[in-house]
Amino acid sequence: MICWFHFQTMPELRKDPVTGRWVIIATERIRRPSDYLVESSPPRGGTCPFCPGNEAETPPEIEAFGEEGRAPNGPGWWLRVVPNKYPALRVEGDLHRTGKGIYDLMNGVGAHEIIVETPVHDQELADLSDSSIEKVIWAYRDRMMDLKKDARLLYALVFKNHGDAAGASLEHPHSQIIATPIIPKRVQEELKGARQYYDYRERCIFCDMLQQELRERERLIFENASCVAVAPFASRFPFETWIMPKVHQADFLQIGKQSAIDLARAMKEVLVRLKRTLNDPPYNYMLHTMPLQENDPDAYHWHIEIIPKLTKVAGFEWGSGFYINPTPPEEAAAALREPV
Ligand code: ZN
Ligand code: ZN
Repeated sequence: MICWFHFQTMPELRKDPVTGRWVIIATERIRRPSDYLVESSPPRGGTCPFCPGNEAETPPEIEAFGEEGRAPNGPGWWLRVVPNKYPALRVEGDLHRTGKGIYDLMNGVGAHEIIVETPVHDQELADLSDSSIEKVIWAYRDRMMDLKKDARLLYALVFKNHGDAAGASLEHPHSQIIATPIIPKRVQEELKGARQYYDYRERCIFCDMLQQELRERERLIFENASCVAVAPFASRFPFETWIMPKVHQADFLQIGKQSAIDLARAMKEVLVRLKRTLNDPPYNYMLHTMPLQENDPDAYHWHIEIIPKLTKVAGFEWGSGFYINPTPPEEAAAALREPV
């Protein structure tokens, strides 16, 4: 019997020396080789740690919205933020950057939080009221504001996995935030591309894209006073959808009251339309915004990328970074534009 003695050790960040991509070797979630032998779906049933009454099953809450006078870590909440019980990264400790021969690594310092979006176990985000979705948006902002105070943390990625196939290990609707001591490569690529465009044209690439999409309208899915949902011109995946503020804003933390209301409405519209058109597909979404410790208000533009999981990433995609998308974004947008 092998003893997995390093179960309790710090997660580790390791850098690929060729591409510069960092990976998290997540010791808290360690799996034995035999765990991969059976492709099993996560256990369902039993008690749900995110349901009201089971608050003691999660680590103590970081933040909650709920009834006036409610005691922390008890029922009466509408939304609850807790640390992940099995975090990919840990808040404690220092970064301790080191080298091992040609390899670079550092301690897996970071934060991993769960936003429980509703007390109702089988109510999907798409089923929530606009005002409940707005609360989720404010929770994202609150948590990022707080994580920003920790100078070690350079980026906070908000994301959601919906459905087994999209990586959700618990059914109860929730999103997650992982804050990292590095800026993820995908985000860096976007920041760099947006910066280069700005240096050349002195305009925000996302604002230019928005204007063209609003003019051409063939990839437009939904718009209201402050938000637009589009199928991006070079969509990697079928029904990929981006939601962006109409007015230029680099940092999601600057979001105002009306924009949050409109964003909630746009998210609801898009999620309901995806659910209806594609029969409740698994999906992921992620929020891309400025790095926590940077302030470059001109070139970047925050947005949410929603990716329904309809195809599998296979050899060509892994090998090339090219995606083969069998559904033109113009067709996806047309299907999603149909009135609800
Ligand atoms: Zn539940
Ligand atoms: Zn812009």
